[in-house]
Amino acid sequence: MAYSPTPEWAHQWTRHVAQLEGKDNLPTITWLQSNSRRGSSGHFKYKRNVIHISAGVDLADQQYVLLHELAHWAVGGHYHHNRLFFQKLWDLCPLFDISTEYAMRRDGSIYSGCVREALKRGLIDPVRADAALAHREAILEARRKRAARRRRKSPLQSLLKKATPVGRVNAQPSSRGNSK
Ligand SMILES: [Zn+2]
Repeated sequence: MAYSPTPEWAHQWTRHVAQLEGKDNLPTITWLQSNSRRGSSGHFKYKRNVIHISAGVDLADQQYVLLHELAHWAVGGHYHHNRLFFQKLWDLCPLFDISTEYAMRRDGSIYSGCVREALKRGLIDPVRADAALAHREAILEARRKRAARRRRKSPLQSLLKKATPVGRVNAQPSSRGNSK
């Protein structure tokens, strides 16, 4: 990964969204480019008005991630993936030739709000929405299980566990008189 100049298309997309929104406080875009990873990830730093993109090699994914972050900028506020946000994102997608399919694959598998807004707009049917929400739930469940396994395995965690009883005894109010 290395910092590289933000691509011209990204500046164009940013100006385009700003124009659509009638906003002139354009975000600064910082661009960290990988030459091995496929997918991208992004981050909108609300207070500094900066969009940071960790770009993978796939252009379509770079574009989707940038548009997602531009939707955050357009809506304003700090990392909300609420209804308002997904209304904005689904408004922007067709204007930038991003297919429902692609948006669903990226954000529909993470955010239920993405699925619900797509359903509301008739972009997907109820069967598809149910399947997407079930798929999302399965992904989250697998993630929870992995995290639980990691917690069990982590040597640091077991050390901390061994260490806690001391703190716990000190921190807890006396239980005298409460015992059965
Ligand atoms: Zn987001």
